Amino acid sequence: MKNIRRSLIAGNWKMHRTSSEAVDLATEINHLIGQETDVHVVLCPPFTALESVARLVSDSNIMLGAQNMHPQPEGAFTGEISALMLRQLFCSFVILGHSERRQYFHESDAFINEKVLAALKSSLKPIVCVGETLEEREAGDTGKVVKRQIQEGLNGVSKQTSEHLVIAYEPVWAIGTGKTATPEMAQEVHGQIRELLAQQFGNSAASRIRILYGGSMKPGNAADLLEQPDIDGGLIGGASLQARSFVELVEIAREKS
Ligand code: PEP
Repeated sequence: MKNIRRSLIAGNWKMHRTSSEAVDLATEINHLIGQETDVHVVLCPPFTALESVARLVSDSNIMLGAQNMHPQPEGAFTGEISALMLRQLFCSFVILGHSERRQYFHESDAFINEKVLAALKSSLKPIVCVGETLEEREAGDTGKVVKRQIQEGLNGVSKQTSEHLVIAYEPVWAIGTGKTATPEMAQEVHGQIRELLAQQFGNSAASRIRILYGGSMKPGNAADLLEQPDIDGGLIGGASLQARSFVELVEIAREKS
């Protein structure tokens, strides 16, 4: 079942790298990766580096993603970026609902849902992040939290467009902390997410949607995670800022796919 879904490794560079530094990092990744075709590789630099990195990877199989967008097509939203603006910079993906956006910018499930619908309408593939905090896990609420985030975040998405969705399960307590969910813990939630997707879109559509794991994934722990039946790749923060570790993750994903 897993091999109907191409593995995907996405690097979330967050607010790291100026545009010239981003070009250096992307150049190194591009050089080490060569013509990768088995694994989908996505780089998500800051907005300010999208154009220069787009030029650099235009002849490669590396794809580009943004880290956020506004749901409106245009308007008086100072500091915001629209889906169309991202499309014109050759973005194919956009990370939405990252826990840092939820936590520091108070993004609600309803707002994230508006963004998901707007991204799909503009042919951008949303990487929709969900995941529980440590308190929520300790209270036994992981399933409830993820269910709410999936159901509200994907409200109104049609079965036809669902294949363009990517979900990232990122337990908040594992992001940037060095703590990783065990492969069994992660698989349990990934399985629940696939079940929720099946309830909304049907089994066949759900079996095509990629569910990534994110949270301190690195070369040392990736193989066991990527071996799980419902883990289809990774959303990588820290380890995506070093070309070698990022490319090693791509190689591990290729072996496990
Ligand atoms: C992330 O921010 O999406 C992430 C998974 O970060 P890290 O790999 O650093 O935990």
